[in-house]
Amino acid sequence: MARPFIITITTLLLVMWMASSVKSAPMSSKPKVILVSMDGFRHDYLSKVNNTPNFDMMLREGVTMPWIRNTFTTLTFPCHFTMVTGLYEESHGIVANNMYDSKTDRNRFRMSTTDDDWWTGHETIWTSAQKAGLKAGVYFWVGSASKIQGTRPERWFPYDGRVPFEDRVDTLVKWMSEDDFDLGLIYFNEPDHTGHVSGPEGHATLKEVERMDGILGRLLQKLNDTNLLDTVNIIVTSDHGMAATDSDTKLIDLRDYVNETLVANVIQQGSMASLIPQEGKAQELVDALKDVEHMTVMLKEDISERYHYKDHRRILPVLLIADEGWTISENGTYRRLNIPRFLGDHGYDNILSSMRPIFVARGPAFKQNAVVESIDTVDIYPLICHLLNIDPAPNNGSLERAATLLRVPPKFKENLGRVKKNTSEPSKH
Ligand SMILES: [Zn+2]
Repeated sequence: MARPFIITITTLLLVMWMASSVKSAPMSSKPKVILVSMDGFRHDYLSKVNNTPNFDMMLREGVTMPWIRNTFTTLTFPCHFTMVTGLYEESHGIVANNMYDSKTDRNRFRMSTTDDDWWTGHETIWTSAQKAGLKAGVYFWVGSASKIQGTRPERWFPYDGRVPFEDRVDTLVKWMSEDDFDLGLIYFNEPDHTGHVSGPEGHATLKEVERMDGILGRLLQKLNDTNLLDTVNIIVTSDHGMAATDSDTKLIDLRDYVNETLVANVIQQGSMASLIPQEGKAQELVDALKDVEHMTVMLKEDISERYHYKDHRRILPVLLIADEGWTISENGTYRRLNIPRFLGDHGYDNILSSMRPIFVARGPAFKQNAVVESIDTVDIYPLICHLLNIDPAPNNGSLERAATLLRVPPKFKENLGRVKKNTSEPSKH
């Protein structure tokens, strides 16, 4: 009776070994990276809801931090472009969602603008990957619909917020599995939109957080189905948080203090505002606004260095920053995105807790079940370059800082991922 028993045990061990090696053996040994952005996903949203099994799994099997430090101004376009370039906003030049540039033919930028010359040739992560011979696909990201350094991602789509999130996930996974892409980026316009409508504590917003957990679950499941889950390094993060506001009752109407004799144009308004003064009237404009409650006004040259938001011609002569929860308007109303009344907004000082985004990562390169010190969003670009084993372009990030996330510390080359700011074109005018 003993012999068959031994054979059975041996066979069982062999089967278990085979099963475990199949599970852990990646389809491909190439490193792969997926960067996910869920717009407006505040760092503490998960603590406000109960039903997020997929984020819970990511946290258990991956690495997180209390929040990731994002850049000023905490708006969608600037923050997203920082993530993929590793540059501060004054360096990459996407300094607001609405911009003015005296040097471009059509000098007004809005979120629908894709003219290539607004993107100033700074290298994005998909450009770096493709230069190194890798394949990159981007399912919506700020800048991906424009030619940057003469190229677009190998796969990309013009932005259409109506595309179901499930379709975005399914397409991305196809790129990564069937087409063997090395890098995939994917963007979801929630929970930002619901956060604006309902506020960061609103029931609808918190339900949306749970829905986004389901979308994350679909991504993880599809990667598992294609044997990629344990091969791909996935980073889930966001551009900014969300502060409670009320655009009906906490509104600063600039007409109460200034008029067109001082102000030539208001380019961006809301949580912050960018003003072009009349010729020679900048100081007078600042003086007229300096005692207005619930906001701070400053000349461009007086903007604090900590914002890294000064040295670019698209940063306009006068900057206003509203106190948390307040809204600046040039005409007594604040309407955008077809939202009649804002109960949540962002764009405020990036030092505010409410402006901080989530960060969680999982994959073979990342620590497991670990909480590490916060890094900066400028560090994401050199981090992904390291994960893909490609050389980064000059950037403001730090792989040394991001290394805290990694199981195996990188061997540092001289100056890798650590180039002093202002790699941008000459910016003073
Ligand atoms: Zn938003």
